[in-house]
Amino acid sequence: MDASTLFTNGETSSSLRKCAVPLLVLVAFTGAITLGVHLLIDWAVGETINKQAEMDAMSWAEEFNTRSTGSGSILSDGALTAGQQSVIDSAINFGNVYAFIVYDAEGRAVYSNDYGLFDMSGNQPVNDTALNVVTSGQSSIDVVQKESPNGTVNVFVDALVLIKDPSGAPIGAVQLYLDKSEAAAFYTKFLDWIGLLLPILSAIIYLVPSIAFIMKREQAYTRTKRVNHLSRFDALTGALNRHTMSSECKARFADREKSKVIGVFFMDVDKFKNINDSNGHEFGDAYLKHIASILINNVRSTDLVGRMGGDEFVIAFPDAIAELLTSIGERILAEASKPFEYKGTTIQGSISIGSHLAGVTESGPEALHAADLALYHAKTNGRNNMQFYFRELDTAMVRRCAVEARMREALQNDEFEIHFQPLSNPADASIVGFEALLRLNDAQGTPISPTEFIPIAEETGMIQAIGIQTLERAIVAAKSWPDHIFLSVNLSPAQFQRGDLVSEIEDVLTRQDFPASRLELEVTESLLMADEERVSAQLVGLKRMGISIAMDDFGTGYSSLGYLWKYDFDKLKIDRVFLEGFEFDSTKYREIIETIVTLGHKMGMQVTIEGVENHDHTEMLRELDCDQYQGFLFGKPMPAEKALEAVTVGQLGKTSAA
Ligand code: C2E
Ligand code: CA
Ligand code: CA
Repeated sequence: MDASTLFTNGETSSSLRKCAVPLLVLVAFTGAITLGVHLLIDWAVGETINKQAEMDAMSWAEEFNTRSTGSGSILSDGALTAGQQSVIDSAINFGNVYAFIVYDAEGRAVYSNDYGLFDMSGNQPVNDTALNVVTSGQSSIDVVQKESPNGTVNVFVDALVLIKDPSGAPIGAVQLYLDKSEAAAFYTKFLDWIGLLLPILSAIIYLVPSIAFIMKREQAYTRTKRVNHLSRFDALTGALNRHTMSSECKARFADREKSKVIGVFFMDVDKFKNINDSNGHEFGDAYLKHIASILINNVRSTDLVGRMGGDEFVIAFPDAIAELLTSIGERILAEASKPFEYKGTTIQGSISIGSHLAGVTESGPEALHAADLALYHAKTNGRNNMQFYFRELDTAMVRRCAVEARMREALQNDEFEIHFQPLSNPADASIVGFEALLRLNDAQGTPISPTEFIPIAEETGMIQAIGIQTLERAIVAAKSWPDHIFLSVNLSPAQFQRGDLVSEIEDVLTRQDFPASRLELEVTESLLMADEERVSAQLVGLKRMGISIAMDDFGTGYSSLGYLWKYDFDKLKIDRVFLEGFEFDSTKYREIIETIVTLGHKMGMQVTIEGVENHDHTEMLRELDCDQYQGFLFGKPMPAEKALEAVTVGQLGKTSAA
């Protein structure tokens, strides 16, 4: 179903058809002209020969006349006069006359150049034609064509014309046999040339504008076809464009039979912005084409594939079942996650799919909305997977929208709060630092967990503003603490995307005149998985400034030793899941924690254990040589005033925790 080739089939045959019509007309036209011209030539040659014969005969007759006796009789003393004889001689010798017969006023032959002088006794029969010429005064001209054995056509003229005496009275007739073969051949040849040139000329006259017309029409057709194609298909990928896809879907949903279910996929490329930013737009375009071709090649011919804009694609599957959607979805996911190479650059991308089987009462937009919610679910589920829509997603989306709106409001009105959770020295439970943790309440004053709003901030890009604002405000609070107490702030991977994090943080430190050595930044493994040059360069930049970098939540992700080596972290924070696990299997989790602590120390890092909630934990941890404890036992995250109080007035929780 490669849409870009949809229009090429049948194109050649249709242009052939279009050319055939004028060509046939041309052949018929030229044929008709040739035939017409030849009939015309035959007629014109006949007419010309007739006219010439008549004129020849008339002039010979007139000449014969002037040289007659003038007695009112054609013969003088029953014989030709010398003048008449000389006319006949010159006609025979110099003209094309080969027979000459003279008739008297009664139509009887009185002389022939062939037979000599006739008997005047009146034995000669009356020649009716000659008599008719004498009585009517009208000449009689007959043209006879005879084909000779060698194929040439001989043209003879039998002309009978009136002879008058000087007073103008008819006295006889003269019959001349003229050979017009030569003249006829000449005229025929001459006119044949014209007859040949004329159809050629008219064919050219017809052909030139015809070809121009056909070419113009072809161009117009190609243009129209292209415009039609562009108005229906997405120029880059060959999938249906948004407008066509929406109207086609609308039609499919409106037309379907009562029992027919329509499947819908809503898809987008995972981290497409990164792909575009890192490899350029040309690469991004090539990747979108590649994804579109995977979609197009994996659906049935009845399914519709559309690009809704950017990296978003939709597929509509008329008459679908869940198994079909699952198998097609799995195939697409598998193919899309294979390495893609373009002009020497290779990436391993992926897509996420939201899938929905629309019930018979659902409209197209409702079905698309459901698939879109499912896509969102697939994204929050780690990307590169397919999720079907389920009803609870609606509620989740309503909630997400409400949280996002609240966040925008809070960012604008400075309503985010920062709480500080102490990090304590295991030896005496004294506070050595605080971790800054963001807090946000909804309109009713109920706290919204950062695990809910931080991902939304990352998705919407709000994290850039929120992150730097949090850092600055936390520093402002930390400036009132004793100098030996450090501040730890969480960094989200999204904050590394723009590439100017180092200078931004440097600006804040300069502005607040806060020593980099008192600042610790926490990052998670997910930041390092992209393994981008950009990320490592920024981490190196931060470390160079004297800021210490902690690997947060260690043990929940890949727990990769490779990352620990590569990035040279200052601190390892063991996630609280291990202390949670300790409640259920103390031996096993003690061993795991011990291993991680040893590993951290061997790699030259400090180790903090998170989630220290009770004395069982401290008891177990006593022998493990952790550098810092963090947990509710030593202090929950607290407002800035409380934190200040804790470090100035007394050591919060010190007595109970130690
Ligand atoms: P995190 O960085 O691992 O922060 C520690 C979380 O564990 C905090 O949750 C804290 O309240 C909780 N916690 C500390 N001690 C205990 C304990 O003894 N028991 C239990 N059950 N929980 C304990 P919180 O404040 O809800 O933050 C959750 C996550 O939100 C943080 O995890 C961090 O990933 C993220 N976060 C919070 N503030 C920020 C921020 O300003 N920027 C960024 N990028 N992420 C933040
Ligand atoms: Ca943290
Ligand atoms: Ca943590």
